[in-house]
Amino acid sequence: MEIVILAVVIAVVALGAISGLVVSSRKNKRLPPAPPSSPSVTAPPAEPHVGEEAETPREEPRRTIEEVDLPGATVTAPEAQAPLVPEIEVPEPSAGRLVRLRARLSRSQNSLGQGLLTLLSREHLDEDTWEEIEDTLLTADVGVAPTQELVERLRERVKVLGTRTPDELRNLLRTELLLLIGTDSDRTVHTESGVTPAGQDKPGVVLVVGVNGTGKTTTTGKLARVLVADGKSVVLGAADTFRAAAADQLQTWGERVGARTVRGPEGGDPASVAFDAVKEGIAEGADVVLIDTAGRLHTKTGLMDELGKVKRVVEKHGVVDEVLLVLDATTGQNGLVQARVFAEVVNITGIVLTKLDGTAKGGIVVAVQRELKVPVKLVGLGEGADDLAPFEPEAFVDALIGD
Ligand code: GDP
Repeated sequence: MEIVILAVVIAVVALGAISGLVVSSRKNKRLPPAPPSSPSVTAPPAEPHVGEEAETPREEPRRTIEEVDLPGATVTAPEAQAPLVPEIEVPEPSAGRLVRLRARLSRSQNSLGQGLLTLLSREHLDEDTWEEIEDTLLTADVGVAPTQELVERLRERVKVLGTRTPDELRNLLRTELLLLIGTDSDRTVHTESGVTPAGQDKPGVVLVVGVNGTGKTTTTGKLARVLVADGKSVVLGAADTFRAAAADQLQTWGERVGARTVRGPEGGDPASVAFDAVKEGIAEGADVVLIDTAGRLHTKTGLMDELGKVKRVVEKHGVVDEVLLVLDATTGQNGLVQARVFAEVVNITGIVLTKLDGTAKGGIVVAVQRELKVPVKLVGLGEGADDLAPFEPEAFVDALIGD
């Protein structure tokens, strides 16, 4: 009899231990809950997204409660106790993305790099040909002054060269284009942490500005992925409270990589959302807070009031590390006008050129850097989640002229 009682006790203890194991292994997959004091903070969703399971490698097979085959035991499935958080996507590392995406650039930019090479290879470089070279550069949005400088230097160097082999021409053009773009600018997106005026640790703070439609929200989402891929934790601030779908769009980007999104009421005060986002970043001990701002270019005064206020209010928590201006590469001169207006309103520290895929307007890199005296730091090369690449002048020029 004693043996039977002992066996029952052992069985009950074993049952408890196994069900406890299953529950705790699931618990480990959960993200920490949002702090209860932040009602506007949206944690990643409770339901898994279709397709995410397949994308995230699992180290060991997960045991389901049904697989723990214990006749007579009644165990409540953990799913019934608390919903699972979706598996988080693992974005591609940011290093080498431009090289991976170069085909998109070279396919679309033939008229610039390849066009110049073809013209320079002509046997007789007469005035008409030099004019064609000039037109090619202007059509690609290089801008008047840089075009004249480049043509001048090419004329001199071709004269010195005498006979021109294709390799020599390619090297010459490569050197001159790199000179125009600049290879020694600091193109890092600065996200170093600091301290608040109250002495707390402060995340790196990045404001993303630009006219609606340039790809600002998409870029903020893609940049979150770049940072997560580089091992940083991110909080998103949906301070574009004027475009109805912007906050939802940003939140979806955040959920995919496990970043919280702080949002406010539609049409609410963008500055207060931005302030709360940084506050949340400080509370969470996040590495970076990315703030998507409203891009209504109604009047310069309106823009100035709005963006200026956002920046001033955020600065109550400490310095803003980056102000990235998003420009649509396909808009040419219009993009430059936007750049000028924004630069008068806030201190732009870096440029993001989107939609460089599918356009022959790669020269805008040169023109906008000249205009703002600020480096291009990132380029958008498609609508895919990881199609935002750190800008590398060498890879860019190689893509333009081909190896
Ligand atoms: P916002 O109004 O400035 O926030 O613009 P959105 O982020 O909503 O983007 C506007 C459109 O541009 C969307 O359809 C994006 O998918 C698209 N877009 C953004 N970046 C790129 C890019 O690098 N390449 C291409 N082809 N499309 C892009």
